[in-house]
Amino acid sequence: MASGFDPTRLVTGSMMFKPLLISAIMDHAELYHGDTEIVSARTEGDIHRYTYGDCALRARKLAQALDRLLIMTGDRVGTFAWNGYRHMELYYGVSGSGRICHTINPRLFPDQLRYIVNHAEDQAVFFDLTFLALMKALKPECPGVRHWVCMSDRDHMPAEGFEGLLCYEDLIDAEDGAFDWPEFDERTASSLCYTSGTTGNPKGALYTNRSVVLHSYAAALPDSLGISAMDSIMPVVPMFHVNAWGLPYACPLTGAKMVMPGAKLDGASLYNLIEREGVTASAGVPTIWAGLVQYVKAGNLSFSTFRRAVIGGSTCPPSLMEDFAKLGVEVIHAWGMTELSPLGTVARLKAKDVGKSPAEQKRILEKQGRPVSGIKLKIVGGEGKSLPNDGAAFGDLYAQGHWVIDQYFGIPDSPLEQGWFKTGDISTIDPDGNMQIVDRSKDVIKSGGEWISSIELENAASSHADVAMCACIGIAHPKWDERPLLVIVPREGSGKAPEALKAELYEILSAKVAKWWLPDDIVFAEEIPMTATGKLHKLKLRERFGGYVWKAGA
Ligand code: ADP
Repeated sequence: MASGFDPTRLVTGSMMFKPLLISAIMDHAELYHGDTEIVSARTEGDIHRYTYGDCALRARKLAQALDRLLIMTGDRVGTFAWNGYRHMELYYGVSGSGRICHTINPRLFPDQLRYIVNHAEDQAVFFDLTFLALMKALKPECPGVRHWVCMSDRDHMPAEGFEGLLCYEDLIDAEDGAFDWPEFDERTASSLCYTSGTTGNPKGALYTNRSVVLHSYAAALPDSLGISAMDSIMPVVPMFHVNAWGLPYACPLTGAKMVMPGAKLDGASLYNLIEREGVTASAGVPTIWAGLVQYVKAGNLSFSTFRRAVIGGSTCPPSLMEDFAKLGVEVIHAWGMTELSPLGTVARLKAKDVGKSPAEQKRILEKQGRPVSGIKLKIVGGEGKSLPNDGAAFGDLYAQGHWVIDQYFGIPDSPLEQGWFKTGDISTIDPDGNMQIVDRSKDVIKSGGEWISSIELENAASSHADVAMCACIGIAHPKWDERPLLVIVPREGSGKAPEALKAELYEILSAKVAKWWLPDDIVFAEEIPMTATGKLHKLKLRERFGGYVWKAGA
């Protein structure tokens, strides 16, 4: 039967049209949460406190300062900065005035930094004092940057050795804040984030005002990060890593207090800040949390207000979830990527899961989670055929949605396949929509035509109390293509003989995975290389073990 849909008969609704602009988020915070605090541990060494009202005023002053510096509409403004109030002002002052806030990960290699600043054609670079030496080295390599601004006050400005360096507080002090946020098309670019590019050059994801605003609403939802005006939120994930997963927008959107940890992310600094500022929830990668949990356990401490830890960026080891649970903190496992702004899925129970056994609930919450509204996922098998959402079939994961990349910045070729973005992850999706990452497609171990999940082996191994860190990689094998090699960093002071630890690990693994998945060898290392975004650097690890030869009979 012919469809009854007739596009010529569509009726335009009669509601106000307001473009979805980032400036409106700060406007809201200023108007209705003007006295809510943003507390920042500063690189200058002290704690700074002010309110959303102060932040909004200074963001407007910053927009005026950018006018004065002749940074034009659409220009990119680079930032090398920790989580702090001045970085917040840049997020809003730059994007709110029609310019593009380009946050840069200072942990990348100098060559990548040079590439990124030049590729983005940054007109100005704002940086925290910590990065002075890095900026001195970068400046001659980036002749296109017209202004270098140190994010500090006159008293803390470096004495000399940086020609033409501007002082952030001088720029702000010169303005009066009499500035109205301009109104423009909601599809206007607002912010630029480059992927870390462990292979090839980094690529830029250019977010729009619209995509950021919609992402912020979705991130704040109860079944997403669940943020409200009752919260005190500490973004541990850096503002230079995919916009701190959207928290600098979702917090003012809801009126949550913000607690910015600055450069010190060790267990003691985080714990003290959490307790002093009544932090209720936070977000970050697993490695950061491991440090905090270790500190709290070692000191026999407890949390008085901290209740939710959002963990993503790489798989959250189940052992970390258990440790947090014992401390009264609920872990919310989330998955995302730069190309998704970054939020894709969040692991949350549904009403129908409430009656399930604790073990069943745990299995759901250990997955990467359900797509947040606005994101659609599918998995595709070898011949390009969509696979069923049955929780068993696994294939390449594709995404679609309001805040999914359409095109990389400055690269004409589309990254999409029939309108879908291929994430590079391999996963399952169950009938309830819960997605579970089996592996990154480049990390999955291909053994005799079958796949072994390096993540599952790591999860199992990390449950051993004497394992501080572990990574599993595929090593070339004459018969099976690849076989798994498990690399272990023993916990400091564990004192267990390597052979005994090895035997115990095989016992744990045998109980959790199929026999043919068992690593052919377990080796010990002092450390495991990490990427600039705090993930296991498997490419480097594979290089390190490039010369590894399986023992006869393995
Ligand atoms: P980069 O590659 O620059 O570090 P992203 O931070 O965008 O960039 O990394 C995205 C990738 O991180 C995802 O494609 C996925 O492989 C991995 N990832 C993110 N969250 C999780 C998670 N909760 N579990 C497993 N892997 C994750």
